[in-house]
Amino acid sequence: MAELTLTDIAKHFGDAAALKSVTTTMRDGEFLALLGPSGCGKSTLLRLLAGFEHPTKGSIRIGDREVANAASRLNVPPEDRNIGFVFQSYALWPHMNVRRNVGYPLEIRRLSKAEREARIDAALAATELEPYGDRMPSDLSGGQRQRVALARCLVSDPTAVLLDEPLANLDVALRASMQAVFSDFHRRTMATMVYVTHDQAEAMAMADRIAVMNNGVIVQLDTPEALYARPRSRFVAEFIGEGAVVPLTGAIQSDTGAEATLLGTRLKVETDTAQPALACLRPENLTIAETGDIRARVERVTYLGGRYRLNLTAASGEALVTQSATRLTPGDQIGLALSAPWAFAAA
Ligand code: ATP
Repeated sequence: MAELTLTDIAKHFGDAAALKSVTTTMRDGEFLALLGPSGCGKSTLLRLLAGFEHPTKGSIRIGDREVANAASRLNVPPEDRNIGFVFQSYALWPHMNVRRNVGYPLEIRRLSKAEREARIDAALAATELEPYGDRMPSDLSGGQRQRVALARCLVSDPTAVLLDEPLANLDVALRASMQAVFSDFHRRTMATMVYVTHDQAEAMAMADRIAVMNNGVIVQLDTPEALYARPRSRFVAEFIGEGAVVPLTGAIQSDTGAEATLLGTRLKVETDTAQPALACLRPENLTIAETGDIRARVERVTYLGGRYRLNLTAASGEALVTQSATRLTPGDQIGLALSAPWAFAAA
């Protein structure tokens, strides 16, 4: 297993920049998700790591080994990078049964039969596919096929596994159970895994850290908890989780913490910058309380199962979101108490 290091990576397709100056390290053994809207450059980043694309600028290392360098035109081909791939489309051989599909990378490497069989058995056990060794891919469900693709990665003992939206073709229930399969796979192998998705629930459920991307750059790389609680930009605050971003004024730092004015009220804020300009109000920052300082009107009520989402408009005009245990009615006027929200700089 190995660390993956990208230094000042850019990738242009003609005049268009799919990636602009990405410098980052994916740690040895971590499960890292690349998350962002369509076209932000996630797949391009993964394809550069795999060696399917060559960088226009910058360099890539896998462990101690440089595998790509735009300046020296070094581009180690994919088959020499010892990396596993899992795609949306499974990419299984339709005429080979599960055992042969899983063992095929070892046939190419000319390992002995005994060694091959032992590695296939271990990979089938790790992906809970032992009963399916003799089945053909056409006789498997989508989730089982994706497990075959994972098992095939595993036999080669790769330094890293790259996954490009591997669950996108599966229905919602199967996606949830496959998330557990990927998490177990990661725990057992401790492979460095880089997982592309545009589904934040999926990224939150599995990843140790998430690189949030937009317009060809990584805008924040953090744990799921930190991205949610301490976003560093409006983009991340709005992209991750629910909530509202509102402006604040008159921020003052003192020994007892920071305070500022937002929604027409003076209150404590959590921040690590001297000049916060925006605050991120998560539903849990807003508690319905008749005595609350902030007045708001209920605009929309959505049942979430056991609780309701309330879309609100504050008296000062901002759109807010909170949750309630009971059903309210659009048009209701409510009071809100605000607990210290996270505040960050505008740029
Ligand atoms: P999605 O979630 O839709 O798959 P993505 O974040 O993976 O999107 P990329 O596929 O990396 O995005 O594409 C980034 C940008 O680069 C897009 O604007 C895309 O159109 C462009 N791009 C990607 N591959 C090529 C190519 N081979 N030729 C030209 N442009 C490309």
